[in-house]
Amino acid sequence: MNILPASAFPDPEQIEPLDFLVIAPHPDDAEIGMGGTIMRMIDQGMRVGVLDLTSGEPTPHGSMEIRAKETAAATEIMKLTWRGNAGLANRALENTLAARQQIASYVRCLRPRWLFAPYYHDAHPDHLAATLLTEAARFHAKLSKTDMPGPRHHPERLYYYFCIHLRLAVQPGWIVDISEQWDRKMQAVRAYESQMITGRPTEPPTILDRIRDEGAHWGRLINRNYGEPFDTKEPLAMTSLRDLL
Ligand SMILES: [Zn+2]
Repeated sequence: MNILPASAFPDPEQIEPLDFLVIAPHPDDAEIGMGGTIMRMIDQGMRVGVLDLTSGEPTPHGSMEIRAKETAAATEIMKLTWRGNAGLANRALENTLAARQQIASYVRCLRPRWLFAPYYHDAHPDHLAATLLTEAARFHAKLSKTDMPGPRHHPERLYYYFCIHLRLAVQPGWIVDISEQWDRKMQAVRAYESQMITGRPTEPPTILDRIRDEGAHWGRLINRNYGEPFDTKEPLAMTSLRDLL
């Protein structure tokens, strides 16, 4: 089995379980899709990790070094509890047994209550593969009698965030109010200068204008300034209706 050595995974003895782990095909997807929600939950004391599956490189204006620096800057802005990179192949991400076992190993070592995966309709093959891989890894992580590191673990919930390359009029399951986190979300997104700014057309609407307009659109639907949409295949479970807007 082509799996990383156990030493490549976080030591479950050394890290408290996460509240949730966001699986991202490329560094910047977590920030674009749910950076505001990540920061809102961290603001409220939750332990949040991001696992980038690939380097995201090559891109027209990026490099491995630049992208790693940008990722570190965004991580700092978001104050993530944990961030890692699985080192899988960009532009060639596939839902293989070896990759599933690798992602499941991260899940076992980090023990998140919930997982977040990219939404399941997309044009980008890496994103589609990341979704399938996350779904498979959630199940695979609970297997016994295996050589994967860490204890058996089954995240209670799997949710989907939106960072998609199709122009879809989606109806999300719910929207999180990120008005208070908006400025910091855009700081984290802008940290990826090689992706968002360098060599991009400067005539409005720029890609950053588009991201702002989308955030405002989702915010408008819940009568707030900015929002981020999510979806789930399983029913939402809650103990109270108190925090519903
Ligand atoms: Zn991506």
